Amino acid sequence: MTKRVPDRRGYFGAYGGRFVPETVMPALLELERAYAACRRDAAFRRRLADLLRTHCGRPTPLSLAARLSAALGGPKIYLKREDLCHTGAHKINNALGQALLARTMGKKRIVAETGAGQHGVATAAAAALLGMECTVYMGTEDMRRQAPNVARIRLLGAEVAPVEAGSRTLKDAINEAMRDWVTNVRTTHYLLGSVLGPHPYPLLVRDFQTVIGREARRQILRSEGRLPDLLVACVGGGSNAIGLFHPFLRDERVAMVGVEAGGRGGALGAHAARFFGGSEGVLHGTRSFLLHDRHGQIAPTHSISAGLDYPSIGPEHSFLRAQGRVRYTRVGDRAALEAFHLLARTEGILPALESAHAIAYVAEHARALPKKTLVLVNLSGRGDKDLDTVRKSLGEKRARSKGKSPRSR
Ligand SMILES: *Cc1c(COP(=O)(O)O)cnc(C)c1O
Repeated sequence: MTKRVPDRRGYFGAYGGRFVPETVMPALLELERAYAACRRDAAFRRRLADLLRTHCGRPTPLSLAARLSAALGGPKIYLKREDLCHTGAHKINNALGQALLARTMGKKRIVAETGAGQHGVATAAAAALLGMECTVYMGTEDMRRQAPNVARIRLLGAEVAPVEAGSRTLKDAINEAMRDWVTNVRTTHYLLGSVLGPHPYPLLVRDFQTVIGREARRQILRSEGRLPDLLVACVGGGSNAIGLFHPFLRDERVAMVGVEAGGRGGALGAHAARFFGGSEGVLHGTRSFLLHDRHGQIAPTHSISAGLDYPSIGPEHSFLRAQGRVRYTRVGDRAALEAFHLLARTEGILPALESAHAIAYVAEHARALPKKTLVLVNLSGRGDKDLDTVRKSLGEKRARSKGKSPRSR
């Protein structure tokens, strides 16, 4: 892999690109130029590193999970602790990076979309820190399901703009945020939350998240004196995974596994595993793997973790899969829940249900791996946001074992 990806048109091999209406192009070109300048600017990089250190708590630790390793009776497992970041997950790395980029461009206002609300919270926090106005678009169905995050976003001084269109969820919110951006581009930056969307977003979000892998590389070399054998991360849009993987891509002996949401099973609509049952297509400005039905309509998706519940995957992941550099697999709702409890009881950590998918993959394969194998798992976020979901599932399990239907709540 000597060729630079993405190329000048934003392609990662056959994936990526810039599939947008003419009206959006000037804004993307302005962003591309500004980002190219910031990327070369040592003062920008220093300012961002300072903010990540003093405001977000970076570097996050790399923890040896000794009791988890022992419980699984296999390899030595390390956790990269993005759960300890300010606002509870890796999303703040990108939110702060883009907010700082926007301010450098002279913008005074941020717009963003959010589904589960986590990206909305990170964006609102970044906007407040840098003294910028912020509007977060959110489908009304998501607002109902994610009421605590709606409250958080508002308390951080941002406006939540309800979206009534379509299914009133993430994809409708993306359309509205894009429309706002194009209308107000002189003052406004669109802060996209994962390695998705038209070029240059998959590139710049990846760059802002590689701080995860750069730190992890330094940390494992310090504690073990060698590189890990295997990296594991969950993949929604794919930003925490690419952030961990990217600084190791040239290390041929480091294997990598991306874990998608297997949901309730293999039927279309029951999962969000784009590489199992998906095919190539264009969604929200980028060419990648998508879940659609026979008529080419975007299919409904399901995962117990809202952050993995999206019908498309970042184009660079489609590229790395085509190259055979990263392997992708899926883990279902039930295994993720079991991994949640396993990590809680062995390590005293409540993981985000997204991250629990990565833990579950390791739990499933640990016995097949030699004891001297070094595994590094990205713990992308903390589980506080998922307590209701986990407690509800415990209620259902108890009811099932008594042969009753779950109590409605
Ligand atoms: C949003 C989120 C994800 C999924 O997003 P990626 O872009 O795939 O990283 C994973 N884990 C947590 C904790 C999240 O909040």
